[in-house]
Amino acid sequence: MTLRSTNEMAAAASIKAMPKIDLHRHLEGSLRLGTLAQIAREHGIELPMMNSAMNTAQLRPLVQITKNDPANLEHFLSKFEVLRRFYHSDEAIARLTYETIVDAAADNVQYLELRFSPQALARKRGFPLTDVTDWVIEAAHQASRVCDIEIGLIVTLLRHEDVTLAEKVAQIAFARQHKGIVGVDLAGNEVRFPCDPFKHIFAEAHQLGLGITVHAGEAVGGESIRAAIEDLHARRLGHGVRIIDDPYLMEMARERGVVLEMCLLSNIHTGAITHLAEHPAKSLLESGLLVTLNTDDPSVSDSDLSNEYQMGMEQLGLTYSHLRQTVLNAAAAAFLPPAGKTRLTAHFEQRLPRPILGQMPQFQ
Ligand SMILES: [Zn+2]
Repeated sequence: MTLRSTNEMAAAASIKAMPKIDLHRHLEGSLRLGTLAQIAREHGIELPMMNSAMNTAQLRPLVQITKNDPANLEHFLSKFEVLRRFYHSDEAIARLTYETIVDAAADNVQYLELRFSPQALARKRGFPLTDVTDWVIEAAHQASRVCDIEIGLIVTLLRHEDVTLAEKVAQIAFARQHKGIVGVDLAGNEVRFPCDPFKHIFAEAHQLGLGITVHAGEAVGGESIRAAIEDLHARRLGHGVRIIDDPYLMEMARERGVVLEMCLLSNIHTGAITHLAEHPAKSLLESGLLVTLNTDDPSVSDSDLSNEYQMGMEQLGLTYSHLRQTVLNAAAAAFLPPAGKTRLTAHFEQRLPRPILGQMPQFQ
């Protein structure tokens, strides 16, 4: 083993051990391939090009981005259509939720806001939306207790689906505001579906004091970002990559304290960015915007938050100071009451010492 590889391994271990926050992670994009293959075998789930001895190697290209996949959002979202076939029982949904949180905790994510779409989980078997939501909440509580990780759940509404369905799902989320649901999100096909029809739902969420995050500025630019902030009351933007093109929106985000939930590898996989070196996370952070780093869909992208940090350091030139700032930004942007945010910020300030002579501390 060379000295260089030893150093690299030590750096990777330290990044893994660094306490982290993920504000933008989709349950449906975080599922273990081994568990999916087992569910497929046990329940005879029909999938293209599979047989009764199906394994993770066969499953991978169906549910994960590989080098042969085109980089665009619509293709990326097509993986989630395949994943809907696996939500076969209450046990399967609870297990997938539980494992997602175990995996985050193993990557030393200490505060996780996990988002999920009850309608996506319910569709295949026609489960009641209320039941599906409660299964996820219960499994998340259990995993949180066992793994010593703090969890907030966000319900995701989908732009490209019926608004009346979104209204129903939102009401279910609102009724569980103090039972684990901390916010609502709008995701899905930003290219063809503006957020306008969802205004009234987000107005109600805003009135109730729920956290609001909207995927915007990922596939399209300025107008989608403006609408998310002004029309949907978004306090956080999923991705928001294209804000870099519009100084007026950057100023608006800075003034209003809008937080950017950035996810590096996902942006490559959806074509939001062509090369990582062009990603605006570093320049947005240095220009005073509240950038955070997150995974989006670790299983679909075959990544984890440590890998996102590592890519940020190696390919964007982020330093430990930058990473520390993104974690503290995330603590202050958590969908928690003010006292909770203060507690979370103090927790991470204590565990993430300032760099000494510009060096990253060794986390173990
Ligand atoms: Zn997302």
